[in-house]
Amino acid sequence: MKKQTEFKLNRRDSVWFQENSAAVVIDYAKEVCDVAILPIGAIEQHAAHAPTGMDTYNAIGIAEKVAEKTGAMVLPCPMYGSHPHHHWGMPGTIPLTYETHIGLLMDIIRGASVSGYNKFLIISAHGQVSSTIVATHKLGIEGLFTISSTWYDFLRDDKTVLEDYMWHADEAETSVGLYLYPQFIKMELAAAGYGTPLIDAKWKIAPGQQATPGSLYHFEGTFALPEKDDLDNGVIGDPTKASYEKGKAVVEGVVVHYAELIEEIKSKYPVGINPLGFRNPGGYATTAEIVYDKDHDSKGQLKK
Ligand SMILES: [Zn+2]
Repeated sequence: MKKQTEFKLNRRDSVWFQENSAAVVIDYAKEVCDVAILPIGAIEQHAAHAPTGMDTYNAIGIAEKVAEKTGAMVLPCPMYGSHPHHHWGMPGTIPLTYETHIGLLMDIIRGASVSGYNKFLIISAHGQVSSTIVATHKLGIEGLFTISSTWYDFLRDDKTVLEDYMWHADEAETSVGLYLYPQFIKMELAAAGYGTPLIDAKWKIAPGQQATPGSLYHFEGTFALPEKDDLDNGVIGDPTKASYEKGKAVVEGVVVHYAELIEEIKSKYPVGINPLGFRNPGGYATTAEIVYDKDHDSKGQLKK
């Protein structure tokens, strides 16, 4: 197979894995950048004013901008996601079971590693840490360096750009939609809506909020009633406060942080280096027999 350096040095046809030939994605990982981003969202009702693919489109749009800035390759985005308990049974939402989603994420990342990618960043635009965190650590046992993130939690906007924290089909998500895909947003149908919290808000860190003593992450409990019975109109928050400018500001803000993280990974672990230093396809059963690769010493430290 002809090498990329012979025909496309430092170039690719697209930031998207699936829009390049196999020769390009393989040599790009070998010679240019072996960081891969996996954007993930969900198919979920987002009220009358926004599409069911909102979270997926948000993940795609953010991942694309991070990849343009850093040189990372973006893996094809699976449209579906997993969901907290209270989303189940809601028309317009198609949840994957946790086991399916964990398996899906692991299969995608294992597959991309065969093409030479060594560092993985999951950018989620949906509340699905129940599966992303499990998948990340199962991949780690196999020697696949993986970071999972939920974009708005990672941004920690904490009301610097928006009037409220990020909830659902609200000011935050609708602003991002107005910035990234205005053709799918119908602001004339936007209306505020709410659900019934089962414990006082002071116990929970809202999405993006900075943690304080005595606070739980918002998915560390079954804190909500089933949406199908509880939501006024499919919204939690107030999408009428959304704007293109707010969407641009939060997306550009989070891209800066993702880019800084990727640049650190690239400089600490040059192309071809697996930060964990091993591959362990045996999974749980063979963790005691891990052998570090040629780039690492017997304690797993990167050789100078
Ligand atoms: Zn959403």
